[in-house]
Amino acid sequence: MHIGRSFGGGGHIEASCPCELEPCGLVDQDKVDETCNQHPPAACKTMRSGHSAEDCPGIGRDVVVAIGKTEAARQAVFEAAAMEPQGFVNASLLGALDDYRAAVEHEAAERIRAHEWDEGCAGVGCCADTPQEAADFIDSKESE
Ligand SMILES: [Zn+2]
Ligand SMILES: [Zn+2]
Repeated sequence: MHIGRSFGGGGHIEASCPCELEPCGLVDQDKVDETCNQHPPAACKTMRSGHSAEDCPGIGRDVVVAIGKTEAARQAVFEAAAMEPQGFVNASLLGALDDYRAAVEHEAAERIRAHEWDEGCAGVGCCADTPQEAADFIDSKESE
């Protein structure tokens, strides 16, 4: 069984926990890291995504890894900002913001790459055929 704590597949919790990620970006419940405070049964947390190992779509881990990089880049912005003396902006903050922007764009690209091959949406007309549809997929008004 592959499990995760976010709705709709692996998310930021899987991206930042010590468990090894399966190809889908979720965690195999038989291989949870004992030091993880999210996935072991003893943690008593609600799992909101899951499928059997045989039903694993085999894609999605790149998105989860990208989410993790975005989280780390976001944290780096806070750390750079905390070092700023009042009234000054130094290069470390500008560099951290550039890195954050790059991480967000990479995450968006990985979401598009993963979505094209997601069997879950095959045949229901949501797969993007054009760049415009791909843009709408990651930038739709109803997405959170
Ligand atoms: Zn974990
Ligand atoms: Zn899986």
